[in-house]
Amino acid sequence: MTQPISLDLRGVSKSYGPVQALLPLDLSVRPGELLSLLGPSGCGKTTTLRIIAGFETPDYGDVLIGGTDVTELPPDRRRLGMMFQSYGLFPHMSVLDNVAFGLKMRNVPRAERHRQAGEMLERVHLGGYRDRMIAQLSGGQQQRVALARALVTNPSILLLDEPLGALDKNLREHMQFELREIQRSLGITTILVTHDQEEALTMSDRVAVMQGGAVRQIGAPTEIYMQPKSRFVSEFLGASNIFTVRPEGAPVGGSFAARVGPENGLVRVASNGQEIGTAPLSVAIRPEHLRLVPAGEAALQGRLRSVIFRGSFFACEVMLPGQDRPILVYTQTSTDLPAPGSPVGVDWPEGRAVAIAESAA
Ligand code: ATP
Repeated sequence: MTQPISLDLRGVSKSYGPVQALLPLDLSVRPGELLSLLGPSGCGKTTTLRIIAGFETPDYGDVLIGGTDVTELPPDRRRLGMMFQSYGLFPHMSVLDNVAFGLKMRNVPRAERHRQAGEMLERVHLGGYRDRMIAQLSGGQQQRVALARALVTNPSILLLDEPLGALDKNLREHMQFELREIQRSLGITTILVTHDQEEALTMSDRVAVMQGGAVRQIGAPTEIYMQPKSRFVSEFLGASNIFTVRPEGAPVGGSFAARVGPENGLVRVASNGQEIGTAPLSVAIRPEHLRLVPAGEAALQGRLRSVIFRGSFFACEVMLPGQDRPILVYTQTSTDLPAPGSPVGVDWPEGRAVAIAESAA
């Protein structure tokens, strides 16, 4: 493999007639990094990937690979490996010939391309399957053949578009780790397009959350999960409690004191880069970061409304005074919970509640 290489989009935008698929976008992918483009259907993920690949030309802006402007280069001159949801394998060819295909197109002699394809098959743990036909493989094995085929030409960038979309849940989870492991061991700069939050959080060095043709937030998985900057990002990444607080007093050290409704005490909220005045503002907190404590032992007081068994945890709904929706609290056991209807306190570790900006969507 060659040295890991950077990828940059500078002011890239794209419209299809009246539809603005991508607003001007700046994105820097570091050498060797796996960056996910995550977002709901129609947010512009695939358009971004197709522009990087060279299948689409941006209306404005530049694509740089390793600092070199490739905006005008056709796909086959960009040194890319690609893998899509429909693997596009040749069913009538052996596994080895499928993997060697790209090398054949480059006129690599037969013995050499079989050697390189065989080596790549070992890497994806399919060394023993080289003579099988594609139809004789499981979905997970086919997916690995597609990966080997994408990597065998020694690309500098790997593009993955919903690569695990066709697999069932268990296999998909297993392959997420395996794909990540192979990507890491090769140190290849990779862009992954997915609409699956867990997949993006599990596999990525950084995640770019997209909405309406723009990147709403970019950061390490823990950062975007723990410190969403908007309602959209918070809710898109998983269950989230969002409630209104009124700041009291000036922010101190990145956090501030706030009151949830008139009947509750003061709680601490991380300001998360948001402007803090005295107007009511929104706060997001994950259900697994909240805990129930006996009534009177926390600043936040509410009433337990219901407890629902969810397999590996219990989801408790708590009504806070002055809020129109219950908040969700996840707990591991239900043995210490008071009866529904009882008063409860709600608490969280410092820094887990963050101020967010409301978005129009
Ligand atoms: P999905 O997850 O559904 O694939 P996406 O995030 O990849 O969605 P894109 O495929 O990039 O979204 O599409 C962004 C917007 O551009 C959408 O509104 C889509 O309808 C529009 N669009 C994409 N390709 C074309 C095209 N060839 N012609 C017209 N409109 C297009």
